[in-house]
Amino acid sequence: MLPMRKNIAEMAGYVPGFQPEGDGWIKLNTNENPYPPSPKVVEAILAEVGSDGGNLRKYPDAGSREARRAAAELYGVEPTWVIMANGSDELLNNLIRAFAGEGEEIAYVHPSYSYYATLAEIQGAHIRTFGLTDDYLVAGFPERYEGKLFFLTSPNAPLGFAFENSYIEELAQRCSGILVVDEAYIDFSSGSAIELVKSYENVVVTRTFSKSYSLAGMRLGLAVARPQVIDALDKIRDHYHLDRLALAAATAALRDQAYLRETVGKVCATRDWFTEELRQLGYRVAASHANYIFAEPADRNGKRVYDNLFVHKILVRYFSDPLLQHGVRISIGTREEMEKTLKVLIDLG
Ligand SMILES: *Cc1c(COP(=O)(O)O)cnc(C)c1O
Repeated sequence: MLPMRKNIAEMAGYVPGFQPEGDGWIKLNTNENPYPPSPKVVEAILAEVGSDGGNLRKYPDAGSREARRAAAELYGVEPTWVIMANGSDELLNNLIRAFAGEGEEIAYVHPSYSYYATLAEIQGAHIRTFGLTDDYLVAGFPERYEGKLFFLTSPNAPLGFAFENSYIEELAQRCSGILVVDEAYIDFSSGSAIELVKSYENVVVTRTFSKSYSLAGMRLGLAVARPQVIDALDKIRDHYHLDRLALAAATAALRDQAYLRETVGKVCATRDWFTEELRQLGYRVAASHANYIFAEPADRNGKRVYDNLFVHKILVRYFSDPLLQHGVRISIGTREEMEKTLKVLIDLG
Protein backbone atom coordinates (compact mmCIF):
# COMPACT_ATOMS: atom_id res chain seq x y z
CA MET A 1 0.00 0.00 0.00
CA LEU A 2 1.24 3.47 -0.89
CA PRO A 3 1.32 5.81 2.09
CA MET A 4 -1.23 8.16 0.54
CA ARG A 5 -3.37 10.51 2.61
CA LYS A 6 -6.79 8.97 3.15
CA ASN A 7 -8.76 11.94 1.76
CA ILE A 8 -6.79 11.87 -1.51
CA ALA A 9 -7.18 8.11 -1.92
CA GLU A 10 -10.92 8.36 -1.36
CA MET A 11 -11.80 11.50 -3.31
CA ALA A 12 -13.19 11.33 -6.83
CA GLY A 13 -11.46 14.32 -8.45
CA TYR A 14 -13.06 17.16 -10.36
CA VAL A 15 -14.39 16.52 -13.87
CA PRO A 16 -14.04 19.67 -16.01
CA GLY A 17 -16.39 20.41 -18.90
CA PHE A 18 -15.72 18.24 -21.96
CA GLN A 19 -13.16 19.64 -24.43
CA PRO A 20 -13.82 17.86 -27.74
CA GLU A 21 -10.94 17.01 -30.04
CA GLY A 22 -11.45 17.74 -33.72
CA ASP A 23 -13.39 20.48 -35.48
CA GLY A 24 -16.98 21.16 -36.25
CA TRP A 25 -18.29 21.54 -32.71
CA ILE A 26 -20.26 24.49 -31.45
CA LYS A 27 -18.87 24.66 -27.95
CA LEU A 28 -21.34 26.12 -25.47
CA ASN A 29 -20.40 24.05 -22.42
CA THR A 30 -17.62 25.82 -20.51
CA ASN A 31 -18.59 29.50 -20.72
CA GLU A 32 -15.67 30.48 -22.92
CA ASN A 33 -15.99 33.76 -24.79
CA PRO A 34 -16.72 33.27 -28.51
CA TYR A 35 -14.66 36.32 -29.49
CA PRO A 36 -10.85 36.48 -29.57
CA PRO A 37 -8.98 38.46 -26.92
CA SER A 38 -8.04 42.10 -27.51
CA PRO A 39 -5.58 42.61 -30.39
CA LYS A 40 -3.45 44.48 -27.84
CA VAL A 41 -3.18 41.28 -25.82
CA VAL A 42 -1.99 39.36 -28.86
CA GLU A 43 0.53 42.13 -29.63
CA ALA A 44 1.81 42.10 -26.06
CA ILE A 45 2.30 38.32 -26.11
CA LEU A 46 4.14 38.47 -29.44
CA ALA A 47 6.30 41.34 -28.21
CA GLU A 48 7.17 39.34 -25.11
CA VAL A 49 8.24 36.37 -27.23
CA GLY A 50 10.24 38.75 -29.44
CA SER A 51 11.82 37.78 -32.73
CA ASP A 52 14.10 35.09 -31.30
CA GLY A 53 12.32 34.15 -28.08
CA GLY A 54 15.27 35.51 -26.11
CA ASN A 55 13.11 36.80 -23.25
CA LEU A 56 11.97 33.29 -22.51
CA ARG A 57 15.43 32.45 -21.17
CA LYS A 58 14.68 34.61 -18.17
CA TYR A 59 12.36 33.91 -15.27
CA PRO A 60 9.23 36.05 -15.17
CA ASP A 61 8.67 38.76 -12.55
CA ALA A 62 7.82 36.68 -9.47
CA GLY A 63 5.82 39.58 -8.03
CA SER A 64 3.68 40.22 -11.15
CA ARG A 65 4.25 43.90 -10.37
CA GLU A 66 3.12 45.52 -13.59
CA ALA A 67 -0.06 43.45 -13.83
CA ARG A 68 -0.85 44.19 -10.18
CA ARG A 69 -0.44 47.90 -10.81
CA ALA A 70 -2.75 47.70 -13.85
CA ALA A 71 -5.41 45.90 -11.79
CA ALA A 72 -5.02 48.26 -8.83
CA GLU A 73 -5.50 51.26 -11.09
CA LEU A 74 -8.59 49.73 -12.64
CA TYR A 75 -10.22 48.85 -9.31
CA GLY A 76 -9.18 51.92 -7.36
CA VAL A 77 -7.06 50.16 -4.74
CA GLU A 78 -3.36 50.01 -3.86
CA PRO A 79 -1.27 47.31 -5.61
CA THR A 80 -0.72 45.72 -2.18
CA TRP A 81 -4.44 44.85 -2.26
CA VAL A 82 -4.12 42.77 -5.47
CA ILE A 83 -2.68 39.37 -6.32
CA MET A 84 -2.47 37.82 -9.78
CA ALA A 85 -2.97 34.10 -10.26
CA ASN A 86 -2.68 31.20 -12.63
CA GLY A 87 -6.43 31.13 -13.14
CA SER A 88 -8.82 32.09 -10.37
CA ASP A 89 -8.87 28.38 -9.48
CA GLU A 90 -5.36 28.87 -8.05
CA LEU A 91 -6.72 31.55 -5.70
CA LEU A 92 -9.63 29.41 -4.54
CA ASN A 93 -7.15 26.64 -3.77
CA ASN A 94 -4.72 28.89 -1.92
CA LEU A 95 -7.50 30.57 0.06
CA ILE A 96 -8.49 27.18 1.42
CA ARG A 97 -4.85 26.32 2.16
CA ALA A 98 -4.39 29.64 3.97
CA PHE A 99 -7.57 29.69 6.03
CA ALA A 100 -8.96 26.17 6.51
CA GLY A 101 -6.94 23.50 8.25
CA GLU A 102 -7.70 19.80 8.20
CA GLY A 103 -11.10 19.16 9.80
CA GLU A 104 -12.07 22.85 9.75
CA GLU A 105 -15.15 23.98 7.89
CA ILE A 106 -15.67 25.76 4.61
CA ALA A 107 -19.06 26.37 2.98
CA TYR A 108 -20.58 27.32 -0.33
CA VAL A 109 -23.98 27.62 -1.95
CA HIS A 110 -25.33 24.62 -3.79
CA PRO A 111 -25.86 24.87 -6.70
CA SER A 112 -22.78 26.88 -7.59
CA TYR A 113 -19.18 26.01 -8.50
CA SER A 114 -18.51 22.50 -7.19
CA TYR A 115 -14.72 22.87 -7.52
CA TYR A 116 -14.73 24.50 -4.03
CA ALA A 117 -15.64 21.06 -2.67
CA THR A 118 -12.85 19.30 -4.55
CA LEU A 119 -10.29 21.78 -3.22
CA ALA A 120 -11.61 21.38 0.31
CA GLU A 121 -11.39 17.60 0.02
CA ILE A 122 -7.74 17.84 -0.98
CA GLN A 123 -7.08 19.93 2.11
CA GLY A 124 -9.13 17.58 4.31
CA ALA A 125 -11.44 20.44 5.28
CA HIS A 126 -15.04 19.81 6.25
CA ILE A 127 -17.60 20.90 3.63
CA ARG A 128 -20.99 22.44 4.34
CA THR A 129 -23.46 23.56 1.69
CA PHE A 130 -26.35 26.02 1.88
CA GLY A 131 -29.28 25.92 -0.52
CA LEU A 132 -31.15 28.84 -2.07
CA THR A 133 -34.52 30.27 -1.17
CA ASP A 134 -37.11 30.85 -3.92
CA ASP A 135 -36.04 34.48 -4.14
CA TYR A 136 -32.37 33.54 -4.44
CA LEU A 137 -31.06 34.22 -0.97
CA VAL A 138 -28.88 31.79 0.97
CA ALA A 139 -31.19 29.38 2.78
CA GLY A 140 -30.61 28.79 6.48
CA PHE A 141 -27.47 30.92 6.73
CA PRO A 142 -26.78 31.38 10.46
CA GLU A 143 -26.88 34.78 12.17
CA ARG A 144 -23.20 34.07 12.89
CA TYR A 145 -21.40 31.66 10.56
CA GLU A 146 -18.32 30.26 12.28
CA GLY A 147 -16.75 28.37 9.35
CA LYS A 148 -13.36 29.49 8.06
CA LEU A 149 -14.47 30.38 4.53
CA PHE A 150 -17.76 30.94 2.77
CA PHE A 151 -17.70 30.97 -1.05
CA LEU A 152 -20.40 33.03 -2.72
CA THR A 153 -20.54 32.83 -6.52
CA SER A 154 -22.05 36.05 -7.84
CA PRO A 155 -23.33 35.96 -10.55
CA ASN A 156 -24.33 32.41 -9.65
CA ALA A 157 -23.23 29.55 -11.87
CA PRO A 158 -25.15 27.86 -13.38
CA LEU A 159 -28.33 29.82 -12.64
CA GLY A 160 -27.10 33.27 -13.69
CA PHE A 161 -28.66 35.50 -11.02
CA ALA A 162 -26.50 37.95 -9.05
CA PHE A 163 -26.67 38.77 -5.34
CA GLU A 164 -27.29 42.41 -4.36
CA ASN A 165 -24.31 44.15 -2.77
CA SER A 166 -26.40 45.06 0.28
CA TYR A 167 -27.07 41.35 0.82
CA ILE A 168 -23.40 40.43 0.30
CA GLU A 169 -22.53 43.07 2.89
CA GLU A 170 -24.96 41.52 5.35
CA LEU A 171 -23.35 38.11 4.78
CA ALA A 172 -19.89 39.63 5.34
CA GLN A 173 -21.11 40.87 8.74
CA ARG A 174 -22.44 37.41 9.58
CA CYS A 175 -19.23 35.55 8.66
CA SER A 176 -16.62 35.22 11.37
CA GLY A 177 -14.27 33.78 8.75
CA ILE A 178 -13.56 34.92 5.20
CA LEU A 179 -16.31 35.67 2.68
CA VAL A 180 -14.99 34.91 -0.81
CA VAL A 181 -17.06 36.53 -3.55
CA ASP A 182 -16.28 34.65 -6.75
CA GLU A 183 -16.96 37.23 -9.44
CA ALA A 184 -15.97 35.06 -12.41
CA TYR A 185 -18.87 36.50 -14.45
CA ILE A 186 -19.28 39.98 -12.99
CA ASP A 187 -18.17 41.75 -16.19
CA PHE A 188 -21.40 40.50 -17.80
CA SER A 189 -23.38 42.06 -14.96
CA SER A 190 -23.02 45.35 -13.12
CA GLY A 191 -21.60 46.41 -9.77
CA SER A 192 -19.00 44.46 -7.82
CA ALA A 193 -18.21 43.50 -4.25
CA ILE A 194 -14.75 45.09 -4.58
CA GLU A 195 -16.17 48.16 -2.82
CA LEU A 196 -16.88 45.95 0.20
CA VAL A 197 -13.23 44.92 0.50
CA LYS A 198 -12.56 48.52 1.53
CA SER A 199 -14.91 48.33 4.52
CA TYR A 200 -14.76 44.64 5.51
CA GLU A 201 -11.44 43.00 6.24
CA ASN A 202 -12.89 39.51 5.77
CA VAL A 203 -14.08 40.03 2.17
CA VAL A 204 -12.04 38.65 -0.74
CA VAL A 205 -13.12 39.13 -4.35
CA THR A 206 -11.81 36.79 -7.05
CA ARG A 207 -11.91 37.43 -10.79
CA THR A 208 -10.94 35.41 -13.84
CA PHE A 209 -9.66 36.38 -17.29
CA SER A 210 -11.15 33.16 -18.70
CA LYS A 211 -14.61 34.43 -19.51
CA SER A 212 -15.00 38.15 -20.15
CA TYR A 213 -11.38 38.66 -21.32
CA SER A 214 -11.41 35.61 -23.67
CA LEU A 215 -8.23 34.23 -22.09
CA ALA A 216 -9.19 30.81 -20.71
CA GLY A 217 -6.17 29.38 -22.53
CA MET A 218 -3.72 31.71 -20.77
CA ARG A 219 -4.84 30.74 -17.23
CA LEU A 220 -5.19 34.08 -15.48
CA GLY A 221 -7.10 35.31 -12.46
CA LEU A 222 -6.77 37.88 -9.72
CA ALA A 223 -8.04 38.68 -6.27
CA VAL A 224 -8.65 41.93 -4.43
CA ALA A 225 -8.38 41.73 -0.63
CA ARG A 226 -6.72 43.33 2.39
CA PRO A 227 -2.89 43.30 2.28
CA GLN A 228 -2.79 40.75 5.15
CA VAL A 229 -4.78 38.32 3.01
CA ILE A 230 -2.71 39.10 -0.10
CA ASP A 231 0.50 38.53 1.88
CA ALA A 232 -0.73 35.11 3.02
CA LEU A 233 -1.65 34.14 -0.54
CA ASP A 234 1.77 35.33 -1.71
CA LYS A 235 3.50 33.00 0.75
CA ILE A 236 1.58 29.96 -0.43
CA ARG A 237 1.73 30.30 -4.21
CA ASP A 238 4.50 28.91 -6.39
CA HIS A 239 6.92 31.80 -6.78
CA TYR A 240 6.91 31.70 -10.62
CA HIS A 241 3.24 30.79 -10.98
CA LEU A 242 2.68 33.10 -13.97
CA ASP A 243 4.81 32.84 -17.05
CA ARG A 244 6.02 35.84 -19.03
CA LEU A 245 3.36 35.51 -21.73
CA ALA A 246 0.55 35.32 -19.19
CA LEU A 247 1.85 38.41 -17.39
CA ALA A 248 2.10 40.39 -20.63
CA ALA A 249 -1.41 39.27 -21.56
CA ALA A 250 -2.87 40.19 -18.16
CA THR A 251 -1.48 43.72 -18.20
CA ALA A 252 -2.59 44.40 -21.77
CA ALA A 253 -6.06 42.95 -21.15
CA LEU A 254 -6.65 45.05 -18.03
CA ARG A 255 -5.55 48.17 -19.88
CA ASP A 256 -7.95 47.62 -22.79
CA GLN A 257 -11.32 48.14 -21.12
CA ALA A 258 -12.82 49.50 -24.34
CA TYR A 259 -12.34 46.13 -26.03
CA LEU A 260 -13.74 44.32 -22.99
CA ARG A 261 -16.87 46.45 -23.07
CA GLU A 262 -17.31 45.82 -26.78
CA THR A 263 -17.15 41.99 -26.64
CA VAL A 264 -19.09 41.80 -23.38
CA GLY A 265 -21.75 44.03 -24.94
CA LYS A 266 -22.08 41.70 -27.91
CA VAL A 267 -22.36 38.62 -25.69
CA CYS A 268 -24.99 40.27 -23.48
CA ALA A 269 -27.05 41.39 -26.50
CA THR A 270 -26.97 37.85 -27.92
CA ARG A 271 -27.86 36.44 -24.49
CA ASP A 272 -30.90 38.67 -24.13
CA TRP A 273 -32.11 37.87 -27.65
CA PHE A 274 -31.56 34.10 -27.15
CA THR A 275 -33.34 34.19 -23.77
CA GLU A 276 -36.41 35.75 -25.38
CA GLU A 277 -36.42 33.22 -28.27
CA LEU A 278 -36.23 30.27 -25.86
CA ARG A 279 -39.04 31.66 -23.74
CA GLN A 280 -41.20 31.85 -26.85
CA LEU A 281 -40.39 28.18 -27.46
CA GLY A 282 -41.82 27.38 -24.04
CA TYR A 283 -38.57 27.15 -22.08
CA ARG A 284 -38.27 28.66 -18.63
CA VAL A 285 -35.20 30.87 -18.63
CA ALA A 286 -34.25 32.98 -15.63
CA ALA A 287 -32.76 36.41 -16.39
CA SER A 288 -28.98 35.96 -16.58
CA HIS A 289 -26.23 38.30 -15.41
CA ALA A 290 -23.56 36.08 -16.96
CA ASN A 291 -22.46 34.68 -20.34
CA TYR A 292 -24.70 31.63 -20.10
CA ILE A 293 -28.32 30.87 -19.44
CA PHE A 294 -29.98 28.05 -17.56
CA ALA A 295 -32.85 26.81 -19.72
CA GLU A 296 -35.61 24.45 -18.59
CA PRO A 297 -37.69 22.75 -21.31
CA ALA A 298 -41.43 22.24 -20.67
CA ASP A 299 -40.92 18.51 -19.99
CA ARG A 300 -38.14 19.35 -17.49
CA ASN A 301 -35.82 16.82 -19.13
CA GLY A 302 -32.40 18.44 -19.46
CA LYS A 303 -30.72 15.23 -20.62
CA ARG A 304 -33.01 15.00 -23.63
CA VAL A 305 -32.05 18.51 -24.76
CA TYR A 306 -28.36 17.83 -24.12
CA ASP A 307 -28.42 14.57 -26.12
CA ASN A 308 -30.25 16.09 -29.08
CA LEU A 309 -27.89 19.05 -29.30
CA PHE A 310 -24.91 16.68 -28.97
CA VAL A 311 -26.05 14.76 -32.05
CA HIS A 312 -25.84 18.06 -33.94
CA LYS A 313 -22.33 18.64 -32.56
CA ILE A 314 -23.54 21.36 -30.22
CA LEU A 315 -22.11 20.95 -26.74
CA VAL A 316 -23.95 22.39 -23.75
CA ARG A 317 -23.67 21.49 -20.05
CA TYR A 318 -26.01 19.01 -18.39
CA PHE A 319 -25.76 18.40 -14.65
CA SER A 320 -27.21 15.14 -13.32
CA ASP A 321 -27.62 16.81 -9.90
CA PRO A 322 -31.28 16.53 -8.80
CA LEU A 323 -31.45 20.33 -8.43
CA LEU A 324 -30.30 20.91 -12.02
CA GLN A 325 -31.31 17.92 -14.14
CA HIS A 326 -34.48 19.65 -15.32
CA GLY A 327 -32.47 22.02 -17.51
CA VAL A 328 -29.24 22.69 -19.34
CA ARG A 329 -26.69 25.45 -19.06
CA ILE A 330 -25.96 27.02 -22.43
CA SER A 331 -22.95 29.32 -22.83
CA ILE A 332 -23.56 32.29 -25.12
CA GLY A 333 -21.60 32.02 -28.36
CA THR A 334 -21.70 34.24 -31.43
CA ARG A 335 -25.09 35.26 -32.81
CA GLU A 336 -24.56 32.76 -35.66
CA GLU A 337 -23.80 29.88 -33.26
CA MET A 338 -26.88 30.70 -31.20
CA GLU A 339 -29.07 30.88 -34.33
CA LYS A 340 -27.92 27.35 -35.26
CA THR A 341 -28.60 26.18 -31.71
CA LEU A 342 -32.03 27.77 -31.73
CA LYS A 343 -32.87 26.06 -35.02
CA VAL A 344 -32.07 22.62 -33.56
CA LEU A 345 -34.20 23.42 -30.50
CA ILE A 346 -37.11 24.55 -32.71
CA ASP A 347 -36.92 21.30 -34.72
CA LEU A 348 -36.81 19.37 -31.46
CA GLY A 349 -40.16 20.87 -30.47
C1 LIG B 1 -14.67 29.56 -14.70
C2 LIG B 1 -14.85 29.75 -13.25
C3 LIG B 1 -13.76 29.84 -12.39
C4 LIG B 1 -12.35 29.48 -12.82
O1 LIG B 1 -11.74 30.40 -13.53
P1 LIG B 1 -10.24 30.17 -14.02
O2 LIG B 1 -9.69 31.53 -13.91
O3 LIG B 1 -10.36 29.67 -15.42
O4 LIG B 1 -9.56 29.20 -13.11
C5 LIG B 1 -13.97 30.12 -11.05
N1 LIG B 1 -15.22 30.28 -10.57
C6 LIG B 1 -16.29 30.17 -11.36
C7 LIG B 1 -17.64 30.33 -10.76
C8 LIG B 1 -16.14 29.88 -12.71
O5 LIG B 1 -17.21 29.71 -13.48
